[in-house]
Amino acid sequence: MVQFKQNIRGNVALGVNPLGLKQEVLNEIDYVKNKGPYEAPKKVLIIGASSSYGLATRISLAFGAGADTIGLSYEKGPKSERNLGTAGWYNNIAFKEEAEKEGLIAKNFVMDAFSHESKQEVIDYIKNEFGGKVDLVVYSLASGRRTDPDTGETYMSSIKAIGEPVVGPNINMQKQTFFTETLDPATDQEIHDTVKVMGGEDWELWMRALKEADVLTEGVLTTNYSYLGTELNHPYYGGGTLGRAKADCDEKADNINALLKDINGKALIVVATAVTTKASSVIPFFPVYCIGLYKIMDEKGTHETPIMHQDRIYREMIYGSNPEYDEMGRLRPDSWELDSDTQAKTKELIMKLNDGNFNSDMTAYDIFYKEFSNLSGFMVDNYEEQDVTIEELKALEY
Ligand code: NAD
Repeated sequence: MVQFKQNIRGNVALGVNPLGLKQEVLNEIDYVKNKGPYEAPKKVLIIGASSSYGLATRISLAFGAGADTIGLSYEKGPKSERNLGTAGWYNNIAFKEEAEKEGLIAKNFVMDAFSHESKQEVIDYIKNEFGGKVDLVVYSLASGRRTDPDTGETYMSSIKAIGEPVVGPNINMQKQTFFTETLDPATDQEIHDTVKVMGGEDWELWMRALKEADVLTEGVLTTNYSYLGTELNHPYYGGGTLGRAKADCDEKADNINALLKDINGKALIVVATAVTTKASSVIPFFPVYCIGLYKIMDEKGTHETPIMHQDRIYREMIYGSNPEYDEMGRLRPDSWELDSDTQAKTKELIMKLNDGNFNSDMTAYDIFYKEFSNLSGFMVDNYEEQDVTIEELKALEY
């Protein structure tokens, strides 16, 4: 029998519990089903579908709106008892199993979304087996590297400040410590490379390829998840390399809107709220912001996990009656996070934190740590231990 061990290095999770991940997917499905059905597109492509925001979007649209989905991700399967692969691998499998029980199409592609080949394979599948067209394309990739499909050059993204170094507090979940960290400013090359990886270039390439292949419906929508944040994280997010990449997505949305004009399509930047994900836990200082913010939002009843946030975005905002847009036409579900009282209280709380109290009742460290653990299948609600062999895990098909 395989022993599942939660293994954290710094703020990176290494071990996974495939059965816990399955239960977490079931919990998210239950959350959506309990809200009841809603009307939304029925043929959806999700690029970056295997975890956090992309997975939550897929679950909401499939189990809330009855959508057939194609999910693209870059994940690894099990090799041995010591190397069980990545969480997203098992999320893909659990999602597919449950969606197919409902009679929905749930096609998983595990391949490099940045390549021309993956775009072509997805297009061929849409044409030959998915009814010919999609009416919603969700772009939810987060990656540390990207190989340009035309030049073959590989770019790495960096999470850095721009101009001045930033000094601030961070936590280490492995060692349970609170410490001061300095984030160096990025070089021009690092800024450029981060935009290449996390900016909107690949989103635009996807939309051009899909449009050219005539697999987009009249009135198609494409969404891309952004983050703007507040003055509390501006020096290292909005004003840093990631902020530049997000600004590039705003520009690419304009290009895509021009591209889709003749089919009445639309590119929508969705400025999403701060949540605990594989990516956000390794952004310097961000976990400290989260343990302060979540405490205040939890008290106000506005704290959300990815499934709560994405379900609200599609059910109540995009396909509901309650959308909030800013002057640039971006959807702003992050308004709960940006609420001025929430931000003032978060700031006040964060200023009081130190090594002796950061993981006490004063903060939402417990919520952050649980959500972080859930991403790898640990500390999952309703989980019951079961025996499973490595052969059984290897036999699972995505
Ligand atoms: P995540 O790391 O949980 O998921 C990323 C997805 O991209 C996974 O499905 C992964 O398999 C896939 N992926 C990565 N590289 C790939 C590749 N080369 N080919 C195919 N698939 C690949 O990330 P997330 O935190 O859900 O972030 C998704 C988006 O949401 C990002 O644009 C992020 O900036 C944005 N966002 C996140 C937050 C937050 O607080 N985490 C807030 C607002 C917006």
